[in-house]
Amino acid sequence: MTMLNPHLAHVFVRHAGRPALGCLGVSFNYAELQSRVAAIVLQMRETGVTAGDRVGLHLARGPDLIAALLACLHDGLCFVPLEPEFPVDRLQGIVDDARLRCVVQDEQSSHSLAPSLRLRPGVAEMPEQPDLDDELPAYMMFTSGSTGKPKGVVIGRAALRNFLDAATRRVGAGCETRWLFTTTPAFDISLLEMLGPLWVGGYVEVVCAPAHKDPVALLQLLDSRPDLNTLQATPALWRMLLKAGWRGHKGLVALCGGEALDASLAAQLSESAGQLWNCYGPTEATVWSMMAQVEQPLADHSVRLRQSLDGYRHWVLDENGNDVGPGGEGELCIEGVSLAQGYWQRRDLNEQAFIRRQGRRLYRTGDRVRRIGDDEFQYLGRRDDQIKLRGFRIELGEIEANLRRIDGVQEAAVRLLGEGDEACLVGYVETHAEGAPGRVQIRRALHLSLPHYMIPSRIVLLESLPKTPSGKIDRKRLPEPA
Ligand code: AMP
Repeated sequence: MTMLNPHLAHVFVRHAGRPALGCLGVSFNYAELQSRVAAIVLQMRETGVTAGDRVGLHLARGPDLIAALLACLHDGLCFVPLEPEFPVDRLQGIVDDARLRCVVQDEQSSHSLAPSLRLRPGVAEMPEQPDLDDELPAYMMFTSGSTGKPKGVVIGRAALRNFLDAATRRVGAGCETRWLFTTTPAFDISLLEMLGPLWVGGYVEVVCAPAHKDPVALLQLLDSRPDLNTLQATPALWRMLLKAGWRGHKGLVALCGGEALDASLAAQLSESAGQLWNCYGPTEATVWSMMAQVEQPLADHSVRLRQSLDGYRHWVLDENGNDVGPGGEGELCIEGVSLAQGYWQRRDLNEQAFIRRQGRRLYRTGDRVRRIGDDEFQYLGRRDDQIKLRGFRIELGEIEANLRRIDGVQEAAVRLLGEGDEACLVGYVETHAEGAPGRVQIRRALHLSLPHYMIPSRIVLLESLPKTPSGKIDRKRLPEPA
């Protein structure tokens, strides 16, 4: 089985008898995992999909999620994760927008997302792999879109391979690595948890729902299984674990990313874990583009972004598109083989975000940074309305567009109040006088189209939103919620 490249084939042969994956007390060695992957390859082929086609993975957290992902890589299919917890309307919207040829589902999938393939149990011999072009897309990840619909980020096979090589090498992962997989597959960092350990002959423990987001359940698992030695999480999840009373584990490699790592959390995690890594990167550059071990003591309020992964290079450009020198501020831009091929069918966005500069292709992250050194940056915030809430990337414009679609809503604005664990979304809604929806109706309507983390926890109803003289919403004058 060659999957992504001969390297992975070699790992599966070399480690055939070693444990590859475990879930709820059942474990599979590499040979057993391969037999299941083979069965899924054959079942997918029965539907007529071929290399280059897009396939949805609407699967519960479990061994088949990883096996199906490997099956897609084997046959050159572009997988599109569909988180079962998300509203059906949102998922069906992605199925239609991405024009999926097939949606792989399991017996736990309560809604059928056409065109569906229900996986059957069973194992098989691995069939031969088709000839695959390196430029074929490996996956497409949908992330929040400011115009009201999620946008698909297309990542090629060579980009994914480079990332897996570079990231596993950077943290020194090997066949002794035993990684706890907790992140939702709708967030691309889950790929490092699912594929990273298998890339190096290690082991991945799948945490099923709902334990994957329950800090007490995770804490019990970490305490009862000291063999599990690697965990990647957002600052929010690490904070929840510490609050739940996790006392740490000196054998643990702790990866933290997705949001700025503040100095106090870094100090606590450095005490609790054997190693702490600050990981930075946008979905558009394949998971992480910088990973650096955090060293004490910390100079800044938030931990610096450092050490580009192999195959990546970082630039800081000022307003005029010129490089800034040490101490200068600007927008962080990324160059390298792991950049996305672009947004799916969004030429307008591609032209804005993926630029050419002196023959180089760069991705504009929208992150404001100060250049500290050659490969070291201080994170200063965003230059747009994209926010992070408990690790989830959200375009406020997407929530606003969904609010405006509700009958009786005239105008809407959303903002983030507070920081860290205290942060919450507030939705401001201007309604028509006649038949105006109430807070409950508004929230219910949003639940049909948005994932739970995008629903404002406070809704403020106003007769009219404050406007600037030019008629735009004056965000600075939005009232504090009572
Ligand atoms: P996503 O595409 O969901 O991974 O989100 C990418 C964005 O998350 C980046 O552009 C940053 O704004 C933010 N981000 C990710 N990791 C870090 C980090 N370690 N420090 C600061 N911001 C981060």
